[in-house]
Amino acid sequence: MQRPNFQVRRSRIHGRGLFALSACPARRKLGELGGEIITEREARRRARAAGESIKIVEFGDGTALDATRAGGPFGYVNHSCEPNAFMRRYKGHVEFYALRRVEAGEEVTCDYGETHHEGKLPCRCGSPKCNGRL
Ligand SMILES: [Zn+2]
Repeated sequence: MQRPNFQVRRSRIHGRGLFALSACPARRKLGELGGEIITEREARRRARAAGESIKIVEFGDGTALDATRAGGPFGYVNHSCEPNAFMRRYKGHVEFYALRRVEAGEEVTCDYGETHHEGKLPCRCGSPKCNGRL
């Protein structure tokens, strides 16, 4: 079975998002995001300096991935409190997997968990289970 195709386009959640162009079964690998592995402390310093435009994934073990300069469509995955995908660190990058079946045309979303926004950013994921904050 071939890898599903994705498109980056305007999202109702935030800025631009990543959308599946074809359906994808649960647990299938969707893609990956590369970048630079840095300490969590350095990640927070960069986030304070760059604001919202920075793409950082924190792993909760004191390290983080700065994917700001890495490019690629998976940098556009938005947060949702009721996501259809999850991410997993694998060596120096992050892999994205489908949490459930993702339908064609659906936006791919992840639960970011703890973020450098520290709950200061309003969440607009639109889910009935929304926490309201990021
Ligand atoms: Zn939400």
